[in-house]
Amino acid sequence: MELIKDGKRLDGRKPDELRPIKIEAGPLHRADGSCYLEWGGNKIIAAVYGPKEAIPRHIQNPTRAVINAKYNMASFSVGDRKRPGPDRRSREISKITSEALENVILTEMFPRAMIDVNIEVLDADAGTRCAGITAAAVALADAGIPMEDIPVACAAGKVGDTVVLDLMGEEDQEGQADVPLAIAPRTENILLLQMDGHLTVEEFDRALELAMNGCQQIATMQREALMKKYQSFEED
Ligand code: ADP
Repeated sequence: MELIKDGKRLDGRKPDELRPIKIEAGPLHRADGSCYLEWGGNKIIAAVYGPKEAIPRHIQNPTRAVINAKYNMASFSVGDRKRPGPDRRSREISKITSEALENVILTEMFPRAMIDVNIEVLDADAGTRCAGITAAAVALADAGIPMEDIPVACAAGKVGDTVVLDLMGEEDQEGQADVPLAIAPRTENILLLQMDGHLTVEEFDRALELAMNGCQQIATMQREALMKKYQSFEED
């Protein structure tokens, strides 16, 4: 499949363009904080519960809160019905998401507590770990969890010998590399950096630059979504 033709990608994007993104803060009324995110063909719900007493007690940390992120793909979220329940991939994504979030949440404020972050992928089209972290960040902010910054994530990669921002499904499957990045946008401190495939050092630098830039654009959308929720409260 020809992934890049006349400088344009399969969906008409230029190499440095993001897919369309829509973010809604607080759609769930039971959760302490929540977010609904549409990002290209991805649809994701994030729900935050806590801080609350960590149970079972042996997981408690006397100096800080434990962050328990759980990433799950609905069985109907991918082309072939996915077997329900956790698998290697979802365990890996849950772990790296917990670690990314732990580094911005002020966990020392809540010793012995836990914060549950549920990420449900309803519809998947590549980049779901980045979309999950981005949605979880808005849900955490919506829950009023104190953080150094609102984390944000975005991937870049290489398709058809070109370094591009934000791979979609076909590009992820047939592409040459994928580099998911999560940052704290104010400092640009890196919270997650992974790489699948092969890149030269120059291509890697370009991918990182594109992903950083994508993160900054999405950080603006996260803040707008949160502002919108609190503005609508003022109007009520
Ligand atoms: P990410 O979603 O973060 O890019 P991967 O690179 O592991 O993570 O997956 C890329 C894409 O492959 C997913 O977004 C999804 O569209 C698809 N995919 C992942 N797992 C499955 C699965 N079990 N069955 C079918 N498609 C899947």
